[in-house]
Amino acid sequence: MIRDPEGFETFIDSLRKFVRDRLAPREAEIARLNDVPEDLVREMADQGLFGYSIPEAYGGAGMTTEELIRAALELSQCSVAFRARVGTNTGIGSEALVADGTEAQKAAYLPRLASGEVTGCFALTEPNAGSDATALRTTAVRDGDHYVLNGEKCFITNAPLADFFTVMARTDPAAPGAKGITAFLVERGTPGLSTGSPYDKMGQAGSPVSAVYMKDCRVPASQIIGGREGQGFKTAMKVLNKQRIHLAALCVGPAIRMLDDTMRFVAEREQFGRPLMDFQLVQAMIADCQTEIQAARALILQTARERDAGQDVTLNASICKYFASEMCGRVADRCVQMHGGYGYISDYGIERFYRDVRLFRLYEGTSQIHQLTIARNTLTQAGYTPGR
Ligand SMILES: Cc1cc2nc3c(=O)[nH]c(=O)nc-3n(C[C@H](O)[C@H](O)[C@H](O)COP(=O)(O)OP(=O)(O)OC[C@H]3O[C@@H](n4cnc5c(N)ncnc54)[C@H](O)[C@@H]3O)c2cc1C
Repeated sequence: MIRDPEGFETFIDSLRKFVRDRLAPREAEIARLNDVPEDLVREMADQGLFGYSIPEAYGGAGMTTEELIRAALELSQCSVAFRARVGTNTGIGSEALVADGTEAQKAAYLPRLASGEVTGCFALTEPNAGSDATALRTTAVRDGDHYVLNGEKCFITNAPLADFFTVMARTDPAAPGAKGITAFLVERGTPGLSTGSPYDKMGQAGSPVSAVYMKDCRVPASQIIGGREGQGFKTAMKVLNKQRIHLAALCVGPAIRMLDDTMRFVAEREQFGRPLMDFQLVQAMIADCQTEIQAARALILQTARERDAGQDVTLNASICKYFASEMCGRVADRCVQMHGGYGYISDYGIERFYRDVRLFRLYEGTSQIHQLTIARNTLTQAGYTPGR
């Protein structure tokens, strides 16, 4: 749902201009520095980028799912690092609070997340709990009006910069799997909480990711998101359900950008006395990219509208994430191919996108986990009972 169609198109035009004029020109610098400099962070904050999905009552833009998706399609047409910098605040780092936080928690954290004054992150994954997140071992043991957290999280986006952490921990060791998991807000500076050095990664330079350690970390009971034990996994699933549609859109933007850059290249470069774009085998690759981009875009927008209409989009959110992330990988591969040897050389930028987008098929549910979800839901809807 777009609340004010005319005003929204004006906003999209200005966001497109901001991405093209302010962010894209600095992509190589961000990759070299492996950091998004503070002046750009401030510019992004001034544009309201940190608060897209945070309700207006807490200083955000309160975007509907469709609006968020349209914005994500624009914002992601530049280096992934920019979007990743704001992405935890406007996605997984705020969504647990938006979905299930108490009024006091929302008032305390959401305005600062929306303005970009603080950075949040979402700490679910552990060394032994990846695709099977319900196997998490971080414990939270009640001690008076506090809980004592012990455990280790890995691969947490923006953890090195984060001011606070949404941490999933087991409050009831007797309850197996998803039961007994509780979501806590843990502030940096809490004794016993520390973050590791940023990992050296295949791509997404400028987007820091690290482990998070908790050793006898005492957190007030008032920091349980929503105030009730045992609700953490449900909260995490709410966060990820919305985020999967959002992330799917964030896969389409880079695909659009890679195709744009590649069309410019094949229009200019000549072989056999003709521009590459004249060759029908090159045209076939362009057609396949454009067809898949449009299919993903349409699917994601439809799912966003369904979510705004209050429908259960669990199945379609998985389909969006699976299709869009795999599509983006295929587009990246074809675009490198169309660049020939230049596609392998850093100066042309396309190899950076190729590496950056590889992550999309791995996080927020690997492609295999989404295949399982899609198959199980499809079989169940058809009246069958699939086994594990
Ligand atoms: C750069 C980066 C940033 C991340 N950011 C965050 C973050 O901010 N917060 C957070 O909590 N997590 C984050 N993650 C973690 C990410 O969500 C996990 O890496 C992902 O869920 C996969 O878990 P895993 O790496 O343990 O792989 P595994 O679960 O060990 O999977 C390994 C392989 O086995 C396959 N597999 C596993 N189980 C099955 C099955 N049942 N059937 C078929 N195949 C299966 C998988 O598909 C995969 O191919 C991030 C990861 C990375 C790399």
